[in-house]
Formats: sequence, C-alpha cells, structure tokens
Amino acid sequence: MKYMIGVDIGTTSTKSVLYDEKGQFIMKHNIGYPLHTPNVDVSEENPDELFDAVLMTIKYVMREANIAKEDLKLISFSAQMHSLISMDASNQRLTENLTWADNRASKYADIIKNKHDGLEIYKRTGTPIHPMSPLAKIFWMKHEQQEIYNQTAMFADIKTYIFYHLFEKFVIDQSMASSTGMFNLETLQWDTEALSLLGITKAQLPEIVPTTHILKGMKHRYAALMGIDPETPVIVGASDGVLSNLGVNAYKKGEVAVTIGTSGAIRTVIDKPRTDYKGRIFCYVLTEDHYVIGGPVNNGGVVLRWLRDEMLASEVETAKRLGVDPYDVLTKIASRVKPGSEGLIFHPYLAGERAPLWSADARGSFFGLTLSHKKEHMIRAALEGVLYNLYTVYLALIEVMNETPSTIKATGGFAKSEIWRQMMADIFDTNLIVPESYESSCLGACVLGLKALGEIEDFSIIEDMVGTTNAHTPNQENVKVYQQLISIFINLSRSLEDRYTEIANFQREHMTD
Ligand code: ADP
Repeated sequence: MKYMIGVDIGTTSTKSVLYDEKGQFIMKHNIGYPLHTPNVDVSEENPDELFDAVLMTIKYVMREANIAKEDLKLISFSAQMHSLISMDASNQRLTENLTWADNRASKYADIIKNKHDGLEIYKRTGTPIHPMSPLAKIFWMKHEQQEIYNQTAMFADIKTYIFYHLFEKFVIDQSMASSTGMFNLETLQWDTEALSLLGITKAQLPEIVPTTHILKGMKHRYAALMGIDPETPVIVGASDGVLSNLGVNAYKKGEVAVTIGTSGAIRTVIDKPRTDYKGRIFCYVLTEDHYVIGGPVNNGGVVLRWLRDEMLASEVETAKRLGVDPYDVLTKIASRVKPGSEGLIFHPYLAGERAPLWSADARGSFFGLTLSHKKEHMIRAALEGVLYNLYTVYLALIEVMNETPSTIKATGGFAKSEIWRQMMADIFDTNLIVPESYESSCLGACVLGLKALGEIEDFSIIEDMVGTTNAHTPNQENVKVYQQLISIFINLSRSLEDRYTEIANFQREHMTD
C-alpha cells in the first residue's frame, strides 16, 4: 500500500493528514500557533512557526503511522489565502505573515475602489477589493510602511515562504496567486496594471506555476528531519477554499458547496473564469479548467455562539447539567416556532459583512418585532437570518455561474443540526446533502496530487473517497413562506445601507471595548 499526505497551512494551525492511496483517512496531526492581534486591525503570525509546524506535523504522521519512506507517494499543499510576507534582497523577512484578517489596509482598499477603478481591477483579477488582499496590503505599505516597501525584494505568501525554505525557489501556484488581487485570470500571469498601481515589478513576485506543479530538490536536512525521501514528489497545490470544494466532491456543474462554521462560505466550480458586474463574488483558480466562484460571509455560526453566550445562559446551564450539546438545545427551541418566525426577520451582520454587502460597517438588527414574539422566535429568526444572507450570495452566484444549481453540499459545524439543514433546503429551495470526508482541503490537495502524477485523468475518483450522510428535500409549503420574507430581507438591506455607517461611527466613538 502507498500513502499520501495532504498538508493544510491554516491561520490558527497547520495539519498534516495521512491517507492511503484510495483516499482513506489514516491519521492526522495538528500544531497550532498564536495569532498576534494587539488591536482590532492587526492580525499577524510568525511564518517561521508555521514552517516548523509543517515539518513537525509531517514528521509526526510518518513516524506514528510507521510509514516507510518509499511508500510515501506524494505530499500536496493547501494554504490560507491572502497572506503576505515581505522579504529583502538577502532573503531575510522584513515582516511577519500578515493574514487575511489584517485590516490595516482598510483605507487603502477604499482608495483603490473609489479612485483607481477598483471594480475593473476586480473584474480582471477575481479578488474583491478588500483589505484582506495582498493588493490592498502592498498599497498600504507603499504609503504607510515606506521603509519596508522600499526594501522589499520579494512579496511572498505563506506557501511561497515555506517552499523557499524547503527548495530555495520562489514559486506561487495559480490558485494562491489568484487570491492576491494582482493576478490576471485571462492571461494567468501577474496583472501589469495592478503592479503599476503598486509601483512594483514582476521580479518582486514569485514565479507562477500550475497547481499541479511538482517541486524537486528538497534540502536533504529537512527531508531527513521529516523522515521522508528528498525525492518524494511535492505538489505545490492550491488554496484551502478551492481545495475544499474538490474535497467534498462539489466540483461538477451545478454543485454548490455551502459551509457554515464560525464564518461561512458558498462556492461552486465553473470551467472558465467569470466575475460579477457588481464585484460581490470571488473567482479563484483550482486548475486551468476549473475556477471556483463564491462568496465568504462573516456571519455564520458566530451568530449562534453569540445567542448561546449572551441570551441563553440558563438554558446552556441546564444543557450542560444534562450532558447535552447547548447548540442542540438552541436549535430545538427554534423548532417550536413555525418557519418564518411569524414574521420576525433577523439581519445577521453582527461582525460586519463580506459577501454580499462587502461592508465592515454593516450591523445586525431584528425587524418586525411585536409583543407576541418570544425568545424562541428570536432564536429561530437568527438561524433563518444567517441563511437568508447566504441565500442572497447564492443568488449572485447563480447569475455568474449561468447554471441552475442541482444540489447543495452542506458542511461545517452547522451541518450537525438537522433542523438547520432542513431550513437551508427550504430557504434555498434546493436538494441538500451532507458529504462525509475527512479534512476536505487536505483530501482535495491529495487528489490534485494524483492528477499531477498523471495517475488520474480527471477528479471523478473523489466520488469514491467521499461518503454521504443526510439528505434533505425542500418542503414547498415552507419555501413559499421563505420566499416572501427573503424579498423583505433584501429590501431592508438596501434601505439600511446608509444607516450602517452612521451607527458604526457612533459605536466607534462611544463603545468602550
Ligand atoms: P470553525 O469554523 O470555527 O472551524 P466548526 O465548523 O466546528 O468551526 O463550526 C462551529 C459552529 O458550528 C458553531 O459556532 C455553531 O454555530 C455551529 N454548530 C456546532 N455544533 C452545532 C450543532 N449541534 N447544531 C447547530 N450548530 C452547531
């Protein structure tokens, strides 16, 4: 038997997952590291700690599973998107790893949007103009971190940085490159106009390679440390988001993956790059024939967590005493109320919002409250509100994909709840299934690795690697109710748009936290 390792370099931890060559999960190892967030705008981590985590997690699974070097068929990589590390001419780093959550470029994202035809840059690059993107971050550095900007010989992302240490080459795969905001989706090269806006040259960016590119010439000391053969094929891989679509078997036409963990995302795969005329939807490369379009939302399970912690202290206590998951109690309470929460609508923007509003100032609200609404209505409305918002992203996605979605593949913590899953099938009016795969981004990376080695022609093998657990079909009675409320929900968003900034400014001035 031969084995594969999928490595996912995440924002809070790196994991290495060992599979056999049929994609069966064997074991994984996870190493976390601190994220430095001294204030609300900064989100950095030490890339050397991430490099160590890559080495140590691979070493761990090789040793613990007792895999002989020659039986390791491939290692393939997934990573967090939008990261940025500046390096000088002697290849020393000048910054920490600035993660996607770093907001320091916020003002500069607005300047790009409003003064430099941001929508056109987005249409060429597929990355929404947002402080998360390296485009905005480098523009910020140019203006506010001039010393670093002037000394930077290489703008790397975290995967480039790690490969540089392993192979002494600066490479970036098309997928990670496509999430920088500087990559032209038509030419599959760096976008000349974006670079000239930033005042940088191609020589300051890594060499772009396909996601199936195989890296050679690993430094022997690192191979020895990990307990692998230095000749083991290392596949450059892609970003975590696009690989997770592959890893849950949602890469065919019409299949939409919706994941709700703390935050959420909705994605589908198309065969040519396409963007949205309003700039709401991202488009990132998986391979040259597969492009992942979709939208990330801030307000997913975090809304439920807020309800649990702030509104339901006594229920949570009881649940704990009975040894029941508090989230199950919460969704159970919600199920006492009819679909549509008797006309109570919740706008879930507790954490500002990315797709579809792309506004850090968006705020939450209940709308339609009356004296007869009870706590259970508020809980149900919150669960529904998270889904209404995702549904509006779904509508934008359908416009871009130009296809009628056939199935939703639901993943993330929310998929544990039968009540919430059925709500999604009803609100989206689409069949829903829950795929069962272990660590989808790592599995996706391994399947991409098999393609790179020429062992598979297409991705259909993933079908056998991923099981299915629950299936839901929409209840047409409920669909009718939800469709009426969704239209109110959307109109409400429009009319609140100008008020968001007013209230957010007030809060910035008056909130103590
Ligand atoms: P993360 O995105 O942080 O990795 P998960 O995918 O585990 O996290 O999702 C965590 C979220 O999933 C929680 O905030 C909660 O909203 C939701 N969740 C977890 N368990 C349940 C459950 N039994 N029922 C409903 N929602 C749940």
